[in-house]
This record gives sequence, structure tokens and C-alpha cells, in this order.
Amino acid sequence: MKLTYSSYSDYMKCPRLYHWKQIGKPEAVKISQYFTLYGSVVQKFFQYYVNKYVKEGIVLSREQIHKFLKLDWDMMLEDRYVVWNDPWCKESSEDIFNEAYNDILLNIDKFDFFKYSRSEVSYSIILKKSQDILSGRMDFLVNYPDRVEILDGKGTAKVETNVDFEQLYFYALLYYLRSRKLPDKLGFWFFKTQQINYIDFDMDTIVRFKDKLALVKNSIKNDKEWAPKVKLSKHCLWCPWKYECDAYLAKKETNRKKGKGITAPMVGKIVEFGG
Ligand code: SF4
Repeated sequence: MKLTYSSYSDYMKCPRLYHWKQIGKPEAVKISQYFTLYGSVVQKFFQYYVNKYVKEGIVLSREQIHKFLKLDWDMMLEDRYVVWNDPWCKESSEDIFNEAYNDILLNIDKFDFFKYSRSEVSYSIILKKSQDILSGRMDFLVNYPDRVEILDGKGTAKVETNVDFEQLYFYALLYYLRSRKLPDKLGFWFFKTQQINYIDFDMDTIVRFKDKLALVKNSIKNDKEWAPKVKLSKHCLWCPWKYECDAYLAKKETNRKKGKGITAPMVGKIVEFGG
């Protein structure tokens, strides 16, 4: 069995979501990826920025950064499904692109860890006893001369609320299983605010997380009948199978009868289309 952080996280959010994703249940609805655009394009830029340009000692001008970013952006918009006239889309494509470009420049000015970094570092570890595979890709592995840090890039402006510590525990565990030592620091790098928030952890934290992971792994493995439980939560809103899910539809119907869940009046400015 192969477990990535994203499959673990899916299972924790809702076992049925995990199951449907694993079997590739076809009747998924497309979920607009508006909120992921900024983070994805900034992350992609920094991936080749550290892995190629900084490694090779090439200093990019602002014009070059703009040009490369624009190419990435246009390519990404061709691939992604985005509903630009959703009421919560407050920024146009141009707004997001310009914000990403400016923030990249600010982050490059502010930080100096790039020369010690590698981006999108993949580890796949085969566990001795079970032969299961733990697999993950770290956004940034920073090998300073005197310490090692693992950083996860975040595109959100909500610095305090949108963080998932377990994601970093997962990477720390992978790092430990590979190197027999823990990284010195784990942190979230917030592109929009140009800050890195380090989290507290020690060996006990990682061991506790490892035990939890083992329980989840066993629970998935033992679910032979593939009749996973549902777990209704705010994550249902982004579930591609929500309109196939009887539990979600029943909850929606109950809310409707109670007069809840009625769409709020539209707010926000009109956005422009196109790249
Ligand atoms: S809609 Fe919610 S409860 Fe139903 S499968 Fe998706 S995440 Fe699970």
C-alpha cells in the first residue's frame, strides 16, 4: 500500500472521499480552482528558481522573472478549470498575476535561503515490517551548513488559520526515516506576507503522528468491504463528488427546509476575463 500525505489527509477529512478518489469515481463535478492559482504559480516559479537559476548562479532580472512567470501563468490557465464569475472571485486574472509577480520580487529581496534549497524534493520510503510505502514531496528542503529546514509554501493570506501542522510532521517523518535524524526546523512560508512561521515539534510529536498514521493505514487496509463512512464537514464544499453523496444531499435538504444554506446576495466587483 502506498500512502501520501494527501491520501492520509483525504481519509481524515472523509473516508468516502478517500475511497472515491482512489477508485477514480467518474461522476465528479469540476471544482473551480480559482483559490489555488496564486499559490501554484508562485510555487512553480520558486521551484525552477532554486533548482536551476540559483544553483547555476544565474541572476534573473525583473523582466526575465516577469516573462517566465507570464509563460507559466498562461500555461496554467489553459489547464485549470476556473469559474471567474463566481461571486467570491474578487480578483481578476490580471490582479492575481500582478500580485504573484510583486510578491515573488518581495520574497526574493527578503530571504537568502535559496542557495541552500532544493524544491519539490520527493521521498518514497518502504516500511520494513509492512512493506507499505510512504511517499511525499516537500516544497523546499533547505540544507544550511549547520541545520536542515523543511518549508511548505502557502498561497493564503490567512496566516494563522489555514495551516495543517500534520503535513509538516509527515515530511519530518519521511526525512527521519531516510536520514535517521529529524530536520531542525519545520515551517510554513507564506508568499503573500513574506514570512516563515516555524512550528514547535520534537521527537515525541513525530512519534505520536507516526502512530496515528499507522492507525489510519490499518483502518484503510481493513476496510475490505469498501463501504467507507462519511464525514460531513466544511470540506464537503470542495468535494468533487458532493452531488453524488447521499449524506451531503440529505444534509443540504435538511438545511434547505430549515431555511439555511440559501445563497447570499452577490457581493464583489466584476472581474475581467482572460490572461
Ligand atoms: S460530500 Fe462530504 S461526506 Fe460526501 S463524500 Fe464528499 S467529503 Fe465525504
